[in-house]
Amino acid sequence: MHTTALVLFSGGQDSTTCLAQALSRYQRVETVAFDYRQRHAVELEARLRVLQQLREQFPAWATRLGEDHLLDLAVLGQVSETSLTRETAFKMENSGLPNTFVPGRNLLFLTLAAALAYRRDLQVIVTGVCETDFSGYPDCRDDTMKAMQLALSLGMDRRFLIDTPLMWIDKAATWQLAHDLGEHSGTPHGGDKLVELIVEHTHTCYLGDRVHRHDWGWGCGACPACELRAGGFERWQRPG
Ligand code: ZN
Repeated sequence: MHTTALVLFSGGQDSTTCLAQALSRYQRVETVAFDYRQRHAVELEARLRVLQQLREQFPAWATRLGEDHLLDLAVLGQVSETSLTRETAFKMENSGLPNTFVPGRNLLFLTLAAALAYRRDLQVIVTGVCETDFSGYPDCRDDTMKAMQLALSLGMDRRFLIDTPLMWIDKAATWQLAHDLGEHSGTPHGGDKLVELIVEHTHTCYLGDRVHRHDWGWGCGACPACELRAGGFERWQRPG
């Protein structure tokens, strides 16, 4: 029986939904993020707002929500040239991957998360990776996650479980999952409240746009991250 978890929490829609699921499932939950000099401090600010709002609006979850960790990963800037760390425009490369792609980034994240989970005595590592809305990131695939779970468990001699609640669902189902989790949180009208919290306070847009407000939240509305989020919200609101 697993009772403790560490959630990779970036402050976006996906990782916030993963955090809500962890809080509904595990007794003690901690969060971690990585500061690799993202061009948009917006993301790091969003995650602190989301944590604060979760604590205020969901008291049953607040009792389970423990320490938040921010690990410095400035070294990523030395091994990558991407629009996340440099002032270059977001675009798709000939490889079919967006130029935000940092090779193996998620492998590094998981390895550091496992080292932290080991030290904090946390059993489950939760991450919002997804193959359904596949953006081409090979370090987010289900097989990669299973291989990492095995490698980390063997390499640290500790049985870790990597939990990927969003792996096989699309963005519309992710909105529905958030609503369901909120509904069973013990907070009155918790479903609507969690969806509103995600719309207002999470951040997904690649361009860091906090100027344009849509039904589905803040963002430029045109980058692939905004398109996924907006399309999912639309399909969730108007299925069929
Ligand atoms: Zn955008």
